[in-house]
Parts: sequence; C-alpha cells; structure tokens
Amino acid sequence: MQRKESHNTICSYCGVGCGITVNKDSKGVLSVEGDKTYPVNRGMLCSKGKNLNYVAQDTSDRILFPQMRWSRNHPLQKVGWDTALKRAAAVFRSIIENHGPDSVGFYVSGQCLTEEYYLANKLTKGFIGTNNIDTNSRLCMSSAVVGYKKTLGEDAVPIAYADIELADCFLIAGANPAWCHPILFRRIEKHKEQNPDVKIIVVDPRKTQTCALADIHLQILPGTDVILFNAIARRLIERKKIDFAFIKRYTSNFEACKKRAFELSLNEAAKKCGISVDEIKAAAGVIGNAKGFISMWTMGLNQSVIGVDKNVSLLNLSLLTGQIGKPGSGPFSLTGQPNAMGGREVGGMASLLATHRDLGNDRHRKEVQEFWGGKPIKKEAGLTATEMFDALENGSLKAVWIICTNPVVSMPNSNKIEAALRKANFVVVQDISHKSETTDFADLLLPAAAWLEKEGTMTNSERRISYLPKVLDPPGEAVPDVEILWRFAREMGYPGFDYNNAGEVYDEYCLMTKGTNIDISGLSYERLKKEGSFQWPVPHKTHPGTPRLFQDKQYYTVDNKAHFNAPAKLENQSERTSEEYPLILNTGRVRDQWHTRTKTGKVKRLSTHIPEPFLEMNKVDALLYGLKEGDLANVTSRRGSVRVKVKISFDIRENVVFLPMHWGKLLNKDFSRANNLTSELIDPISKEPDFKYCAVRVEKY
Ligand code: SF4
Repeated sequence: MQRKESHNTICSYCGVGCGITVNKDSKGVLSVEGDKTYPVNRGMLCSKGKNLNYVAQDTSDRILFPQMRWSRNHPLQKVGWDTALKRAAAVFRSIIENHGPDSVGFYVSGQCLTEEYYLANKLTKGFIGTNNIDTNSRLCMSSAVVGYKKTLGEDAVPIAYADIELADCFLIAGANPAWCHPILFRRIEKHKEQNPDVKIIVVDPRKTQTCALADIHLQILPGTDVILFNAIARRLIERKKIDFAFIKRYTSNFEACKKRAFELSLNEAAKKCGISVDEIKAAAGVIGNAKGFISMWTMGLNQSVIGVDKNVSLLNLSLLTGQIGKPGSGPFSLTGQPNAMGGREVGGMASLLATHRDLGNDRHRKEVQEFWGGKPIKKEAGLTATEMFDALENGSLKAVWIICTNPVVSMPNSNKIEAALRKANFVVVQDISHKSETTDFADLLLPAAAWLEKEGTMTNSERRISYLPKVLDPPGEAVPDVEILWRFAREMGYPGFDYNNAGEVYDEYCLMTKGTNIDISGLSYERLKKEGSFQWPVPHKTHPGTPRLFQDKQYYTVDNKAHFNAPAKLENQSERTSEEYPLILNTGRVRDQWHTRTKTGKVKRLSTHIPEPFLEMNKVDALLYGLKEGDLANVTSRRGSVRVKVKISFDIRENVVFLPMHWGKLLNKDFSRANNLTSELIDPISKEPDFKYCAVRVEKY
C-alpha cells in the first residue's frame, strides 16, 4: 500500500490503551498497525485493535442525520440540527420547569473522550442543577473507585505498566486478561518467559485462558473472594510475612483488618471457598516472599453486590506487605473501557465531582461552581446507572439523554430497562450506529462522530493521557459529541459554553485541575502532540509525568496514611439459588468481541473465533440435565430467559454456568441477551450491579 499519510492514535476498545498508527493510502483506504513508539504496546495489537480500520471505514450502519418523532406513534423523521437541538432544549426546559432539575438525567459512557465527559458533567451538575449524570463505567469500575478512595483517599491507580517487568508475583483476581486485556497480558507472559521464577496466582471460578500461565489457580466458589483474601491476610500475619515498619508508620486501622481476618480459621475459609487449605497457604507463601507484588483485578471483583468489600480486602494485602509505591508493586485495577479513567477524573459519575474534588465537601463544590460560573452544585449524589432506569420506570425521572452506550443490552435485567425507556417522556440517544438496540427507543436520535472523526484525549488504566487526532471527516451530518453538548447548552441559554473546538474544552479542564492531586495544568494538546503521552499528575510545563504514585508514602487521606478497611461482609449477598433455580450464572466477555458488538459485530473475521453465544457448563451438570455439546437449552432466571447452545467443559465448576454478555437482540430476537437473566442487586456503596452471580435453571429446548 502506498501511504499518503500516517497518524498516531489510541485504540478505541479497552482500558489497556494501545497506540495505533493509522495509515491512509492515496485512495483514502485505511490500514492500522501497532504504534512501535508507544510505551504501552510497543507495536503489538490484539485481534480487536488490528481490525479497527474495517470498523472505521464501514459506514453502512452509521446514523447519518438527526431524526425525531413527535409522539411514540410516529416514526422517526429526518430533521436538521437546529430543529433537533431546539426541540431537545424545549422539552428539557419544560420538564425542568414543571418537575425540577432532578427529573432529567444523562447516561454516558467510558467510550466518551475526556472533553465530552467533562462537558456533559459541567452541563448537568453545573447548569441544569442535577447530579443525575452517570456512566456505564458504573457497571464496571465503581467498586474499584470506592475501594481506592477508602484506602488511598482518592481514586488513584498507584502503579504503571512498567512495574509489570519489575514484579515477581502477580495475583490476578476476577479477571481474564488473556482475553480481555490481551496486550497487557502479553507483557506479563513475556516477563514470565524471561524470568521463570515469577509467580502468577489466578483467582477465578473458571479455568480461563489466563490460567494457562498460572502457577497457582484458586478456583474458588463464586462470591467467596473476600473470605479468600482475608484468609491470605491471616496467613501472612500469622507467618509474620508482613511489613511491620510500613504498617506502623504509614497506615491506620490495621487492628480492625486483622480482627476481621482472624474471624475464620484457614480451614473454615478453605471450606467456604471450595479450595484446600494448602492452596491458601501456597498463595500466601508466594505473596509473602515476593519482592514485587502486583494485584490485578476487574469485573469478577467489581461487578458484585459486595464489590467494595472485595476491593478493600484485596487492597489490604498490598498494605500488609508494604507493596505499594515502590518498583514492581501495587494494587492495579484494570479498566474495561478506553476512557473509564478519564471519565472518573472529570467526575463522570453521579457520586463524583470534577478533578477528584469531593461532592460531599462544601468547599470543593463551591470551588467548582465558581470555576464554572453556574448554579450551586447539589451535595447529594445523583441517580446512578440502575437507579436512573428505576426512576424512569417509576416516573420520577422524565427524560434521559443517552450518549455512546447501549443500556438495552448492557444493563442488568434488560427487559426492565426496555420497559423503563418505553415509560420515559423523552429519550435522546446520541450515538454512531443503528446497531445499538437502544436507538429503537429514541424520540430524538443524534448522529455522533466516531473514532478517528474527532479529536480529544483519553486516559488508560495506568493514568496515561494520550491525544487522539481527527483523521477522517464524519459521514453525513454527524458531529463530535462535544459539539452536540455545547450546542445544546447554548440552546438552553447557559453561559460558558462558547467553545470553538475540543482543545478549548481541554484547556479549561486542565486549568481546573491546578493544585489538585491530578494536576495536569502542565499538559497541553501541543505537548501531547509533540512529546507523546503522559501519566498524571503533570503539574507544570516541563514536568515529565508521574509513572508511580505514593513513592513518598504520603497518601491522599486526611492523615496522609493508607487506611486498612475491614470488609463489612465476608459472605456473598447475591440472590440465592433454590430448587427452582439451582445453578449460579456468571457472565463475561469473549476474546474477539467488545461490549454489545456494535463495532466488533461489523468485522466478519472477529466472529470466526466464537461465532455465537453459548452456555458453558460442567460435564457433570450437563449429564444431570440431559444435555450434550451443541444442544439448545433454555436458561431461565427469576427475571427472564435466553436460549443458547451448550458448550460442555471441565473448566468451570459444577453448579456454575457461564454466558457471554455481548449478544443482544440482533442475532435471534432477544433470546441470546445475557442480561435478560441478570440480577438487579447492586453493591450498597458503589452501586455496581451484581452481574457475576444470579440463580438460573437450565433445560433442554
Ligand atoms: Fe485495543 Fe485493548 Fe486490544 Fe490494546 S489490548 S489493541 S487497547 S482492545
């Protein structure tokens, strides 16, 4: 291919945040390759990233112009942008006047660029006067956010990918990075290959591809993570494999953590977890002897009704061993989406405020209000993701604006989400693709620019901020999300939205971070374009960025100490299995698909690995229920059912079944949508749904 131009950008899929070089030939045809200069992936890409050129160039599914309907009985009709935004503003104004600002809400996405996220928050919290803005990151990271805040004082990932090559022990819990964070996993794999003494412990009820690298696989019963981490803590304390000096000088609340850890004997803990005492001892032994200990986790811990407890009990292990703020060590939550971190930084959740300021802190709210020149910001958290749809269903929320996410497939108990959207007075959907099932519920459909069609920034799992350039013009009348938001704000008559480009939004946000722990006032677009990516904080113009936090052992808590937290609940609080629903359903990802397949579903070759949804089931259970490989089975929970083919395996525990979460209605009506089944229970603090555990029965179709 004869290259005409090349641009370096960032992959639009997962939180690993790989660098991609996009080449355009003289005919405008795109190809992609891993950016060899980018420190995250050094030229590597996984199957999803490698095929992004097809996604970017196939516009057959794209929403090309604004569409509107006057009532639910009418079809959507093409309208101009002015008409669309005037209607949106008129409806929002009228609802706010009649029912107050808390009668509207925004549901956004970890796919949004930081500038978009920032502006949506400014608009909602600062000018509409409601904290009803939440994000689909609530579905994946909010338990980790709370865990970090409780332990370290702020939502601050302490370590960098570069620490991987310096560690000699990894505890990977509730995560399958071999499939879900592939390039990060390649780095761990290579590190172990070159250093065979490196030990890897995997905690997962399923024997996933990540287990192929494990020295120890703790195949615990679903929901017993807190008991396991506490048992490991107990063993470390008993064997004096803890860092007494660090604990004494730099932490608080150790005794409470110890007391909780000693509530169960190792025998009792092992029994509850469904593993042996020797396995717990072996894991604790490896952790206790490590020079560099990294814990990694994702949805298996976060997506739980006790997600915060799972997080704090794992974080306790880093504090016990003093393995934080030094090379090759630290607790490392892997983010799912490409800019979940950026969203958290700009306060993109109903419970957060921009720049890691605290919503509950009067001074912080006043600072933000004065900076924006808007309305007083409410102290109380707004509606979180699931609460927003509950409120639509009960009528207290009248209008919702959904940006770049597909809740009809991705939220728990999907049938209820559909009912809630049907009940809403007004639904705005701002997206790139008709493939999103949520567009079916739109009263107003707004076409947004996609990856490569707009500029902005994202932050990956290791706090690395990168610039994404505009490479293509958006098709039809699509425009960048950030522009849709500022145009709507102007229609609403709000001051402070007279931007001309995303760079101006970014500059404003950078200024707002000045003096905070996530200060990036020294990081301009110009620097990002010229010098590449940086890890925050970057507090002045010659600052090199900060790969590792807390090297000075000063934490962001009031007393500057890291806080041990005794988990509130040891036992899982998920819905119970019963005679009618005897099996535990676990949901998750497969290697080559992303979320609800609006993008990966466009690339045929990505369906060759796993072409359709399946129910993974232990051979013993299959025999019990009279099922063979490939049989169609109905899976039913207390909320709904799906019909999928059975895949028989010994890699999953008896009484546990697994269903991928990607497939929605498109494949086979709604029969394969995993969230027809999932539970509505949420963690009481993080409000993250319990996606990994619900009770089902399985019957041959
Ligand atoms: Fe993209 Fe994640 Fe794959 Fe990297 S690992 S190429 S960021 S999907």
